Amino acid sequence: MEQQDQHSEEIRELRFQLEEAQETINAIRTGQVDALVVKDTEGHQLYTLKTADQTYRVFIEKMSEGAVTINSEGIILYCNTRFALMADTPLEKAIGAPLASFVPDQSKTALEELIQSSWNEECRLEIILKDGGGKDMHCMFSCNTIDLDGGTALSIIVTDLSLLKETEKQLQLRNEQLEESRANAEKLNNTLEATVKERTHDLVISREHFKLLTNNIVQMTWTNLPDGNVNSYNQRWYDYTGKDFETTGGLGWKELIHPDDLKMTIEKYTHSLATGEMFEVENRYKRHDGVYRWHLNRAQPLKNDKGEIIFWVGTATDIEDQKREMDRKDEFIGIASHELKTPLTSLKGYLQLIAGYKKEQLPPIITQYINKAGVSINKLQSLINDLLDVSKIKAGRLEYSLNDVNITELVNQCVENAEHVYSSYIFEKQIEGDLIVKGNNERLEQVLMNLINNAVKYSQNDKNVLITVKKNNNKARVSVTDHGIGLSQPQQTRIFERFYRVEDRKNMTSGLGMGLYISQEIISNHNGTIGVDSETGQGSTFYFELPLV
Ligand code: ADP
Repeated sequence: MEQQDQHSEEIRELRFQLEEAQETINAIRTGQVDALVVKDTEGHQLYTLKTADQTYRVFIEKMSEGAVTINSEGIILYCNTRFALMADTPLEKAIGAPLASFVPDQSKTALEELIQSSWNEECRLEIILKDGGGKDMHCMFSCNTIDLDGGTALSIIVTDLSLLKETEKQLQLRNEQLEESRANAEKLNNTLEATVKERTHDLVISREHFKLLTNNIVQMTWTNLPDGNVNSYNQRWYDYTGKDFETTGGLGWKELIHPDDLKMTIEKYTHSLATGEMFEVENRYKRHDGVYRWHLNRAQPLKNDKGEIIFWVGTATDIEDQKREMDRKDEFIGIASHELKTPLTSLKGYLQLIAGYKKEQLPPIITQYINKAGVSINKLQSLINDLLDVSKIKAGRLEYSLNDVNITELVNQCVENAEHVYSSYIFEKQIEGDLIVKGNNERLEQVLMNLINNAVKYSQNDKNVLITVKKNNNKARVSVTDHGIGLSQPQQTRIFERFYRVEDRKNMTSGLGMGLYISQEIISNHNGTIGVDSETGQGSTFYFELPLV
């Protein structure tokens, strides 16, 4: 009896423990218990049930996607706050509502179909969700089934695609803009390519044209850099010299210039490089067979927009034949004037004899004829003298003795003489006293008379001529000013050349263009300078300066 009681007590104890265990399990199952304190061999232990579950709960709550669980009737069993926000509905109202109520009519069929197929397999589809503001929100519904206590449910993750859509739209727009820009760039590129092609073609043609031209002109041509180094020649140069670029490029051309012309050539070349003024020089170049021929060199600088010299373009023209012609002409002038001089002198002598013969018995008309013949013979004589002087200058034989010359006196005499010859002209003098120079009286008289003759000859409308003599820095400066036709700048640079005359049909006068050439030669032989200040139509002032003794 006592043993039976003990068994009953044990059964009651066990039943109590079982009931307690069942209650605990139920509490855990329904989420009423978060932790358990279990007593084992190591004492009391705390087992947290909540911690593991909470991680997922927090994760679901905080994730940026909406999370929804629906049952087979499409009723929302659970949804997270994010979904409620997306659907613009309070959370408690969303739970228990049909999911379809958050979808606009046009998406309802698609949702139904999606849900239907999702019970069998994982599915995803783009569905429009209407938010409270009536604005549609493009979302991706990704569905899969989950087993719950109450049976199988469908879990749906709702991803807002509007940002993606917007980005996509922006991307599309950007793409379109990019495509447009690309098309424009391509168009531009094509145009550019065409232009470049065209330009290159033009350039090639023009370069070929230039090459063809330079290689076929009779002159030798070159281009040189601002430092003087030659960087190209045309074919004529190589044909003439028989040398290549290696030997004649840079400054190698110096070897081909006649030794007598080299110094002068280098001086002028250096001057032009330094000043940018045109280079012009006559010199002899050695031909491939060793023969030197005269050439006229001219080079002009080519400048950029800023006025800086990029390079020089030069030509060398063969003037050997002209030089020879000139020499022959000079020789002929020399011989002819010499031959003419003797009969002219005797003619003058005979005329003087006639004039002096029984003077009182000659009828006046004969005396008049004799005087006229005398004037003509004098003109002829001065012409022949000029011709003789020119050929003497050419031969380097214009020689004369040098003495002290009173320039003031000489000018007074010349003016007196001019007043006598050109009685219709008014000669004004501004003369400083007794300036003495070293020179040849006759030759200086010849120079001054030539300037006065020209002043008269080239100022037919205004007959005033001014002659001045001034002391100017240890020099005597003599000038003759007229108010005649004047000279342009280019003419002024050429009038001292041999046989140069200004071509002017309106003011044609007789002359051979020798006077100023001889004058310049005489003045430079006196260590002096001769020059002109003039303007077309405004008259001219010719002057020369000689060092005072
Ligand atoms: P010519 O007078 O015999 O032609 P010149 O050597 O004396 O030769 O002069 C050369 C040229 O200079 C002349 O042909 C003329 O055109 C010009 N010339 C000289 N003097 C003057 C002047 N006073 N006024 C204008 N032109 C002048």
